[in-house]
Amino acid sequence: ARAEQDYLDRTPRSAAAQARAARVLPGGNTRSSLWAAPYPLSITGGSGCRITDADGHEYVDFLGEFTAGIYGHTCSELEQALTEAHRGGFGLSSHTPYEAELAEELAARFPSIDLLRFANSGTEANIMALTAARLVTGRERIVVFAGGYHGGVLTFGSGNSPVNMPFEFAVLPYNDLRAAEREFTASGDRIAAVLVEPMQGAGGCVVGTPDFLQGLHSLCNESGALLIFDEVQTARMAPGGAQERLGITPDMTTLGKIFGGGLAFGAFGGSAAVMGRFDPSHPDAIPHAGTFNNNRLTMAAGLEAVRRHLTPEALQALFARGEAFREALNARFAARGGAFHVTGMGSIMNIHAVAEDAEVRRDRLRLLHLRMMERGYYFAPRGLIALSFPLGEAERAGFLDALDTVLAAGGANS
Ligand code: PLP
Repeated sequence: ARAEQDYLDRTPRSAAAQARAARVLPGGNTRSSLWAAPYPLSITGGSGCRITDADGHEYVDFLGEFTAGIYGHTCSELEQALTEAHRGGFGLSSHTPYEAELAEELAARFPSIDLLRFANSGTEANIMALTAARLVTGRERIVVFAGGYHGGVLTFGSGNSPVNMPFEFAVLPYNDLRAAEREFTASGDRIAAVLVEPMQGAGGCVVGTPDFLQGLHSLCNESGALLIFDEVQTARMAPGGAQERLGITPDMTTLGKIFGGGLAFGAFGGSAAVMGRFDPSHPDAIPHAGTFNNNRLTMAAGLEAVRRHLTPEALQALFARGEAFREALNARFAARGGAFHVTGMGSIMNIHAVAEDAEVRRDRLRLLHLRMMERGYYFAPRGLIALSFPLGEAERAGFLDALDTVLAAGGANS
């Protein structure tokens, strides 16, 4: 309660911004994931790996826009690419050279992608991939996993949700190959697709086991269902995404977040046999329109981002930094009584409170989050951390030291 009062005392302008916004936006924003009681921090600016709130407090940003913000908050090359594209004309009612070049880059990187199409969000990319799978296979059933997140209308916390797209979903436990085998035995000839994250991101950075993911690949191969990897978050794990690390080539892949160079982005791709159906000259073409699918700003920023920033060396280095940081966090938590632990892959991870009782877990994490914010370190209230390129050694060491101070002061228990 004291930590919460301290928060209220420190952030009156965030409170005011929330109250004002809530008059026209239900809950005060347009992204439910941003909400945290009593009100979320109002961030008014950022530079590099630092952000500032409405009351002028500075934070080191360990959230990185829920994994989309890999470039940090200022990037002169992206700024220049955007300015050039902007000057050359906004929407020219045409395909653009940027679009084909970005598609070439992505197809060259992802083993599963021969052909791809762009969209405006990861959500749309997943909806289109599922639609393609249904039409190409002529089947209706879609296998997904509890804890999976593929967008607001494809959210499987503990099962199907009333706001989800009206597909026929089978929601199975994640990392449980036996359950998937039972599903395929019972309904294999009706399954159009398995949609799975190689690591469940919003589900708490739960890493898919190689056996499970490989097993899904085999089940799909045997039954004619399409395996779709949602790599909206995990694409950063290697130039060819988590699928490259795992050595598994799914039938389709969906992408988002980082490939828009900071702008809204989605893409879905797969084999020529599947994706060729989107060619409007195909006798049985699948329509897929969208005014901003290929907008010049996103395409130009994405192309610059891929070529200049998402190099194999940069992605490998970020992955290694993430692995080392997660290990360092776990070592600190273990040394301080083990009230928390961290799961994840490479530069994306989630802090979890360890306790039998769900309410105790929630309170513990909430307290840790508030106390870390007081010390100038920002991550998601649910424990998500996503490292960005500009986040350096000094910032990571600072985070670990702040954590030590908070834990030593009993910050996790009082
Ligand atoms: N898939 C995964 C794995 C995600 O993490 C997200 C977003 O967090 C999405 C899909 C949806 O992407 P978007 O928010 O761009 O619609």
